[in-house]
Amino acid sequence: MSIHQEYSFFDAVLASFDKAAKFTAWDPGILEQIKQCNSVYRMHFPVKIGDKIEVIKAYRVQHSHHKTPCKGGIRFATTVNLDEVMALAALMTYKCAIVNVPFGGAKGGINIDPKKYTPYELEKITRRYTHELIKKNFIGPGTDVPAPDYGTGEREMSWILDTYTSMKPGEIDALGCVTGKPVSQGGVRGRREATGLGVFYGIREICAMPDLMEKAGLPAGVEGKRVIVQGLGNVGYHAAKFFREGGAKVIALAEFEGAIFNEEGLNEEEVFQHRKKEGTILNFPGATNILHSADALELDCDILIPAALENVINGENAPRIKAKIIGEAANGPLTPEADEIFIKKGILVVPDMYLNAGGVTVSYFEWLKNLSHVRYGRMEKRFTENQNRSILNQMEDLTGKTVNSREKEIIMHGPNEADLVYSGLEETMIGATREITDAWKANPDIPDMRTAAYVVAINKVGTSYAELGIFP
Ligand code: GLU
Repeated sequence: MSIHQEYSFFDAVLASFDKAAKFTAWDPGILEQIKQCNSVYRMHFPVKIGDKIEVIKAYRVQHSHHKTPCKGGIRFATTVNLDEVMALAALMTYKCAIVNVPFGGAKGGINIDPKKYTPYELEKITRRYTHELIKKNFIGPGTDVPAPDYGTGEREMSWILDTYTSMKPGEIDALGCVTGKPVSQGGVRGRREATGLGVFYGIREICAMPDLMEKAGLPAGVEGKRVIVQGLGNVGYHAAKFFREGGAKVIALAEFEGAIFNEEGLNEEEVFQHRKKEGTILNFPGATNILHSADALELDCDILIPAALENVINGENAPRIKAKIIGEAANGPLTPEADEIFIKKGILVVPDMYLNAGGVTVSYFEWLKNLSHVRYGRMEKRFTENQNRSILNQMEDLTGKTVNSREKEIIMHGPNEADLVYSGLEETMIGATREITDAWKANPDIPDMRTAAYVVAINKVGTSYAELGIFP
């Protein structure tokens, strides 16, 4: 994937912020406070790998303390640097504000290639990183709560949890020090697929808006849409899955080593298994190979979903993009120059900081579960089922008719944890989509949906600062 660096990533976030700030009425001091990163922690620590000592470079940035704890993932990649972590932390602040998750934004990163280490070595690195965070009070259920990001997952979150709890014996809310944990370790059902599912809910809502779809030159609805997904990691895989299940056709999938295309549609699970077995996405039965992965972004399609890394669509390749809608599942996949090109071309860009907010939304549900020490649905599931059963029985008695057993099951069903998490996420994504599109429609001078999303976020964070009384 070519990275055409026009801006530093943090500069790009600042540029988008400034573009939107013009449409708000906040005092310049408040705007400046919202923009800056509140605390930046850069660390170097030694880890013994084999018989050598390696010095590992890592970061944790807390962008905003307007609400605490701060929240955001931890990335393991060789591309991790301070600029990137600052940008991603800032995006977390705006993301949380848009979806009404009461956290400030943060992000962490360790500059390593996780593929070069054994699980044992990765565990040592992760545990040492967690120690460093504890030492400086950069982790805790009320201060800063990490989560998975690029290159990390449930396993790393378990190591973080175990390190934290062993250092903080007796801390009753310790489980809430990190999210994205396995369900057996205090995780919540639905967290794994949350970001991809949120992307689907968000785009489905956009596709249901006749005015936006008319502008994009597409019929309403997700069904039958031709979708291209870049990245078959956790986010891309689940986005592809939910689009396929929603009736869309995933015509191309792209990864580092290349991309594959099939006009009839691809099944993400079959492609995933093929890649696992063969070590490459290429040569998938029935599909055409695209040797240069980035070329897949330029194929004709209705919806393009970049779900990998930042800056993949930029001033260089944006003029060749043929999609009608771009849904940013990754953080920062488009540069500000690409945005300008798409405004001119009339391509609808659905911005990252709300579209991929499903992950942090369900992280919030996980954190609440941890603080309440009870699984969702435990108290009310059986009660609801009993109540539904008696309503059904009454209806059948009064009408003399019977409901068939399949329908009966659906009507009686009381919500379990997954049901509640899914419906909470769906409600959040629908609400956020409407809030942003309403703000956009309310001011015809706002050029694009990203700017509208920033306006919504800035207004919420600004209100929060003003209410804290920091700027009387
Ligand atoms: N890393 C994810 C993101 O970029 C999730 C963050 C979280 O759950 O705290 O939104």
